[in-house]
Amino acid sequence: MQPGFAPHDNQAEKQRLAELFARQRSAYAADVYPSAAVRRDRLGRLRLALEKHQDALCRAISEDFGHRSLHESKLLEFFPSYAGIDHSRRHVGKWMKPEKRGVSIWFLPASNSVVPQPLGVVGIIVPWNYPLLLAVGPLTSALTAGNRAIIKMSEYTPRTGETLRLALAEFFSEDEVAVINGGVEVAQTFATYAWDHLLFTGSTSVGRQVMRAAADNLTPVTLELGGKSPVVVHRDYPIATAAERILHGKCLNAGQTCVAPDYVLLPRGQEETFIEAARQAVRQWYPDLAASPDYSAVINRRHLERLQGYLDDALSHGARVVPLGECDPASGKLAPTLVFNVSEAMRLMQDEIFGPILPILSVDSVDEAISYINARPRPLALYYFDHDNERIGSVLTRTHSGGAAINETVIHVGQDDLPFGGVGPSGMGHYHGRDGFDTMSKRKGVFAQSRLNGLPLMRPPYGPRIEAL
Ligand code: NAD
Repeated sequence: MQPGFAPHDNQAEKQRLAELFARQRSAYAADVYPSAAVRRDRLGRLRLALEKHQDALCRAISEDFGHRSLHESKLLEFFPSYAGIDHSRRHVGKWMKPEKRGVSIWFLPASNSVVPQPLGVVGIIVPWNYPLLLAVGPLTSALTAGNRAIIKMSEYTPRTGETLRLALAEFFSEDEVAVINGGVEVAQTFATYAWDHLLFTGSTSVGRQVMRAAADNLTPVTLELGGKSPVVVHRDYPIATAAERILHGKCLNAGQTCVAPDYVLLPRGQEETFIEAARQAVRQWYPDLAASPDYSAVINRRHLERLQGYLDDALSHGARVVPLGECDPASGKLAPTLVFNVSEAMRLMQDEIFGPILPILSVDSVDEAISYINARPRPLALYYFDHDNERIGSVLTRTHSGGAAINETVIHVGQDDLPFGGVGPSGMGHYHGRDGFDTMSKRKGVFAQSRLNGLPLMRPPYGPRIEAL
């Protein structure tokens, strides 16, 4: 946490949590199936709260980060939040409709349907890197599906947490939507509650702890985790274009993005072209990197030192480190930095980097890149640059990743009609749009018997009828 903000009182937050959980439970029990109009109204109020407090929230995020570009907050936190709310408001009526399913010949003329139903009270645990988007996105899914929700904000973003709490309290009764702040011990307690669904966004290691805690209540979890998202570039693709798009995905929020390109598998021999294009892109976006209001800081000193440690460690293992600008560490910023001659012994090839450092591994073929990726934990995103549809299809089917983008990075996360979620160590379950609605609903299978078929053949005594089956 940046200095200058009195931390929340953990005991008081735990007390609030206990009270709010009980209040939301009974409020839900009094209205178990909110109509489409009620859900649209809640989504509308969410939008109004964000619109009214957008500037204050952007300032709070920036203060929590030391410096977070206000434009980045608008572009990457608010714009997708509004789009997600609008999309859900538009479609909620359709999504709520029971869905007809087929019936086997034995049971005709009965009918089958899937009836979506709210789960009840949903818990949402939020990381620090996009504190607004990663609170509002899951909340949008929870409200669209007719639930009530309590959000636990990260201890690294206490100002954002407090500002969001006040903003939402102005538009919602706390028995509909509430925000809890406080430290890790509050988050740990939060995970032990008997939520009807718990959506956690954060690291893989904490995700394991959350799932363990949820198991005691058999609380269903959606785990939105991290990992090392690779980029593969085909030799025929214009390297300069690829470099520009990869660097853009890496520089957003100074690389502190769950789907940021973590490392690049580049055709051998293209290294210098890549460096030149990357340098040019960074120079064009941030003419004076250190002073640029558009380039965000690393969240805190601990993370800055962690990232600097990766570079020192890489250098000590013989890496070639290519900074694409200069920043004074006292500013909390770290310049985008390419790393070549990378080896597995380097810590930056073991951990998720989560900062503006980009290792480049030279490979001789796409097959070699795929083997490299498949020998490692399944990532949250995979990026492939190529114009050949057959090769694109082959890469998509031969690799596993939570999501993928072709000839672009990061942008797939902002598509409201695509499921978002990891696979294996990068997460489980999905949200956004329809998939978020489904995740936060009980999709109840309903068989409705016809008055014309009492299933007499299924009643005892069974005798030869059943033996003949
Ligand atoms: P983190 O796992 O350290 O913390 C996430 C949240 O969990 C925080 O609010 C924290 O208070 C809480 N927490 C900590 N210990 C807990 C426990 N034992 N039980 C319950 N909650 C606990 O992650 P972070 O550093 O805030 O965020 C960075 C990580 O999140 C990266 O790995 C990144 O890839 C991942 N991430 C994933 C997504 C996604 O959508 N898949 C999005 C953003 C970030």
